[in-house]
Amino acid sequence: MATPLKVAVIGAGVAGLNAARELQRESHHVVVFETSHRLGGTWAYDPRIESDLLGLDPNREIIHGSMYKSLRTNLPRQLMSFTDFKFSDKTYGDERLFPGHQEVLNFLEDFAGFFELTELIRFNTLVTRVEVVDSEIIEFEVESVTNGLNSVDVFDAVVVCNGHNTEPRLATDIPVVIGKGPSAMDLSREIATVAKEVHMSSRSPRIKVSKLEKFSNLWQHAKINCIEKDGMITFEDGISVDADIIFHCTGYKCHVPFLKTNDIVSVQEKRVGPLYKHVFPPKLAPRLSFVGLPEKSLSFLIIECQSKWIAKALSMKVSLPSKDEMLRDVEEHYRDLKEKGLSEAYTHSFEFQTDYIDWVNSQFGMGVEKKLTDMFKYIIHCFMSGNIDGYMNAFSLKYGI
Ligand code: FAD
Repeated sequence: MATPLKVAVIGAGVAGLNAARELQRESHHVVVFETSHRLGGTWAYDPRIESDLLGLDPNREIIHGSMYKSLRTNLPRQLMSFTDFKFSDKTYGDERLFPGHQEVLNFLEDFAGFFELTELIRFNTLVTRVEVVDSEIIEFEVESVTNGLNSVDVFDAVVVCNGHNTEPRLATDIPVVIGKGPSAMDLSREIATVAKEVHMSSRSPRIKVSKLEKFSNLWQHAKINCIEKDGMITFEDGISVDADIIFHCTGYKCHVPFLKTNDIVSVQEKRVGPLYKHVFPPKLAPRLSFVGLPEKSLSFLIIECQSKWIAKALSMKVSLPSKDEMLRDVEEHYRDLKEKGLSEAYTHSFEFQTDYIDWVNSQFGMGVEKKLTDMFKYIIHCFMSGNIDGYMNAFSLKYGI
């Protein structure tokens, strides 16, 4: 039996809670650092807004949460569950299949309580530095600040779970992209109930100018061609509108400001790397790992399987390929993106794929219920065929729930 390790987990959102649970199951000694006074990360809704609305000032007070008050999940409970703790078995006041954010927070609090994770968390503690201090045996110094007091602890392993929806990625150059992801879809529909006109712009080549069904004041346009100082916007479809407000629904940057690894791991706008299968930097594997980087997929299921993989790799119950093999795999992934004409921004973008979850699970002999992947594929099919407004009902009818 492998010696239990002292492991630091940074963040107490979905990723940090799962990592802590799996590490504890493998008898490792876990400390979870959480800068907020509560757990839940993204799902701990905070009504405050940052003083610098574009989030450009690095010294601004950072509000971690990017939830909006009206947000409902875009996945059903079944797809936001964990293998042995199911969201679909529980309700906390909002029984809808696609509940509001408070319901998800209640579920995560219940999860943390059930697995006795809360006592592992150092709340109000911001991690300011994670540094490899001995690259031979691999040890990390973790520096943190709690209520103005600095402390430094040494750990055998670090799991980075700090989320990636806090540092805005802006469309600063013109032509700009305003976005057509789930947030743009949600917000434009909501704003259309109070605004005179809403115009959504996307760089997708498939988009042709059109008015959205069921709305008298919501249009979809191609890419923005230019924005004048007075707010006049011209789209590539030739139409111009005079805008009072521009919302950037253009996503977030990867941001790991505390990580000091002598360039073993680099953090670019949308790429943390090199990371073997989005988790392990080959040179420091398995002692340093990242949970939750994949985007546009089933985050709860991905986070759970990555957490199990890390915990079992640290206990030496699963082995990883050699450093060179892992590095070659990463290089192959980068080459593949290039050949497909995809930029670095797509490094951790899963474009709604589920194969990854199967692959990670196969490393320790588990699988995902086929029913869950079928459900996900059905939701993607609804999105792709433009059924944005009716997919929740369609899903409920198809699965009889
Ligand atoms: P986070 O939830 O961001 O948690 C990170 C934690 O780390 C935070 O608590 C933060 O305070 C802490 N932290 C950060 N830096 C430090 C530091 N230096 N020191 C200490 N602590 C630190 N997923 C779905 O499955 N279904 C949905 O419907 C869905 N809707 C979404 C809607 C929006 C608007 C957004 C932004 C995301 C949505 N997601 C959805 C994806 C969501 O990101 C994941 O569900 C999940 O919350 C990610 O969890 P995480 O733990 O990786 O990150």
